Amino acid sequence: MKITIIGGGPGGYEAAIYAAKKGAEVVLVEKDRIGGTCLNRGCIPTKAFLASYDTLETVKKAESFGIKIFGAVEVDYPAILARKNKVMGSLVRGIEFLLKKTLNLKGWEKHRHSVTFPAL
Ligand SMILES: Cc1cc2nc3c(=O)[nH]c(=O)nc-3n(C[C@H](O)[C@H](O)[C@H](O)COP(=O)(O)OP(=O)(O)OC[C@H]3O[C@@H](n4cnc5c(N)ncnc54)[C@H](O)[C@@H]3O)c2cc1C
Repeated sequence: MKITIIGGGPGGYEAAIYAAKKGAEVVLVEKDRIGGTCLNRGCIPTKAFLASYDTLETVKKAESFGIKIFGAVEVDYPAILARKNKVMGSLVRGIEFLLKKTLNLKGWEKHRHSVTFPAL
C-alpha cells in the first residue's frame, strides 16, 4: 500500500511511523519543520518557558527551603530563549531521526509554500 501524509506534526509523523511499520510505502510531506505546532510553536516551547518561570519561582522561595542566596537573582532572557531552542531542536532532530530510520530514508519530501505529490 502507498500512502501520502500531508503535515509532519504529531498527527502526521505518528501516522507515518505507524503506516510504515505496518508495511506501507509512506511519503510524508511537510512544508515547514517536522514536529508541527506542538514541537515548534506549541507544547514544547511553552513548557520550556514554564520550566524557566517555575525555576524562578522556586528560587524566590529558596529561603523557605533553607537555602540562602547571596547576591541578586537575575532573569537572563537570551539564555531562556537559547534553552527553549535547544530543547526544541533536540526533540525535532529526534523525530527526524526516527522518521528517517522508520521510513528507511524513502519518501522524505520537504516543500516550502507548496505541496507536490511525487510519483509513488
Ligand atoms: C501554544 C500551544 C500550546 C500547546 N500545548 C499543548 C500541550 O501542552 N499538550 C498537548 O497535548 N497539546 C498542546 N497543544 C496542541 C498541539 O500543538 C496540537 O494538538 C498538535 O500540534 C496537533 O498536531 P497535528 O499534527 O494535528 O497538527 P500540527 O502540529 O499543527 O501539524 C500540522 C503540520 O502540517 C504542516 N502543513 C500544513 N499544511 C501543509 C501543506 N499544505 N503542505 C505541507 N505541510 C503542511 C504544518 O507545517 C505543520 O507542521 C498546544 C498548542 C499550542 C498552540
